[in-house]
Amino acid sequence: MASDVLSRGIRLLRDPHRNKSTAFTQAEREQLGLLGLVPEGVDTEETQLRRVLLQLGQKTTDLERYIYLSALQDNDETLYYKTLMSDPEHFMPLVYTPTVGEACQKYGHILRRPRGLYLSINRRGRVRELLRNWPEQDIRFAVVTDGERILGLGDLGVNGMGIPVGKLALYTACAGVPPQVTLPITLDVGTNNETLLADPLYLGLRQPRVRGKEYDAFLEEFVTAVQEVFPRCCIQFEDFANFHAVPLLARYRDRVCCYNDDIQGTAAVAVAGISAALRILGTGWKDQTFLFLGAGSAGTGIAELICLAMTRDGLALEEARQRCWLVDVNGLIESSRTDLADFQKPFAHAHAPLRGFLAAVEAIRPTGIIGVSTVPKLFDQPVIEAMARINERPIIFPYSNPTSRSECTAEEAYKWSQGRAIFASGSPFPPVQYGGKTFVPGQGNNVYIFPALGLAIYATQARRVTDELFLCAATSVAEQVTQANLDMGLIYPPQSDILNTSIQVATRVAELIFERGLAGVPRPADVGDFIQSKLYRPEYHSAV
Ligand code: NAD
Repeated sequence: MASDVLSRGIRLLRDPHRNKSTAFTQAEREQLGLLGLVPEGVDTEETQLRRVLLQLGQKTTDLERYIYLSALQDNDETLYYKTLMSDPEHFMPLVYTPTVGEACQKYGHILRRPRGLYLSINRRGRVRELLRNWPEQDIRFAVVTDGERILGLGDLGVNGMGIPVGKLALYTACAGVPPQVTLPITLDVGTNNETLLADPLYLGLRQPRVRGKEYDAFLEEFVTAVQEVFPRCCIQFEDFANFHAVPLLARYRDRVCCYNDDIQGTAAVAVAGISAALRILGTGWKDQTFLFLGAGSAGTGIAELICLAMTRDGLALEEARQRCWLVDVNGLIESSRTDLADFQKPFAHAHAPLRGFLAAVEAIRPTGIIGVSTVPKLFDQPVIEAMARINERPIIFPYSNPTSRSECTAEEAYKWSQGRAIFASGSPFPPVQYGGKTFVPGQGNNVYIFPALGLAIYATQARRVTDELFLCAATSVAEQVTQANLDMGLIYPPQSDILNTSIQVATRVAELIFERGLAGVPRPADVGDFIQSKLYRPEYHSAV
């Protein structure tokens, strides 16, 4: 049956934005041709939520819960977000990391209904046309990946689509960005993943990745087409390989409204953690020296934003950079090294060549160490003990994900520093008992930053995304941390209250967007009320 001859009632039931399923009222059922298409009982939203929770409880694996929730999103979007927003701390790991990692690996196997837009490099010259196939016209947020570096899992080709889909769900669930203005996109330029290429159920192009000029031209066509088809759209680059992520951001950040969460969001969440740590220390940015284990996009991104924070605290940029040192797989980044990428060079200070992280700790005597190496266990006992000898309260941030890659555990950091470490990690750790005290480790999760920033950009129709906006978001997250949180060692706000945290952060960022003349709308009298007025709420609306 063609869709234009489908009855009005069936069309409603198949439209996830408007479907209320068993919650359609008697009046709606009468007037919209729904009688008989749903069972006679009329459910409240609470009853529907109970049914969802019951079914989720009966699933035996998180992947099954992920699949169930995806189907719910396809079927009844309001109920999906009502579920997520009823307990964000519980549902985030199911719709995003870590479960989304396994879901991406198996995307071609678990697919029910495609979601998002797949732009294949074979459609070059037709990207505008494909964008116009999307049913919504006022897209404000596109999260885009080419699937080459999905989480820590590497090249997953079009299976990477799980990431833009999951990330955009968090924009809505954690900050109230309306789902209909969001668009997940995967650029299919092939894959070098042999397992996927050999898998008969793989969904994407079966060819090696296109590189070089052809790749760049495709990206250029994509960015230009988005501006044309969705002129108010912000592009968030996500999980591109490093050698593309850094140049892409450099090429487009001053041309269009865009950002890269892996680089800038990570930087902001680390800076938020340090800002809160400084409240414990009672010192300022300019009194700190940081040593990074890992000098990739996360490490250099964090170092750059730390420098911006230090300049706000009175240091010259060059002085700030002198307080950030990085170690990579070949040792300390210093000025005699000839193997450095451009983005590492600002941190190549004069120093004798050095190998081994402990030797670097002893030589640089940092106040904080940040692990972004992807290699587990490198913050070992001698390293933590050295940090605890050099500092009364050492800052210890093992940020590598997932948990199995963390440079140390929370327990190790607290134990080896005799409970003095100020700790946060990339992956969550349970509370730790040490010396008669309970420590609650914070998780430096980008979710404190990108949904709130997204809400501010959406509400103000910002034209550009500057590093200053990320610094503002970071500072504002740190301000949400209460003294009671700090007393437990917790340097991030509780994730259970993420929506309220995001609203506060978005308000501060929106104020700055207006102040800097970056907004596409006039400044309202009260920015807080203005942000509130833009929020999506997971409630059914009358259909008659
Ligand atoms: P990357 O591959 O770009 O960089 C890794 C860096 O680590 C490179 O400089 C490499 O030389 C260095 N390295 C590798 N082995 C090393 C060793 N044995 N000793 C010293 N250095 C070594 O990766 P990335 O994108 O920068 O991400 C790094 C890690 O940060 C990942 O594990 C990622 O999960 C994590 N991360 C966490 C968050 C977060 O928690 N909010 C956000 C982004 C990234």
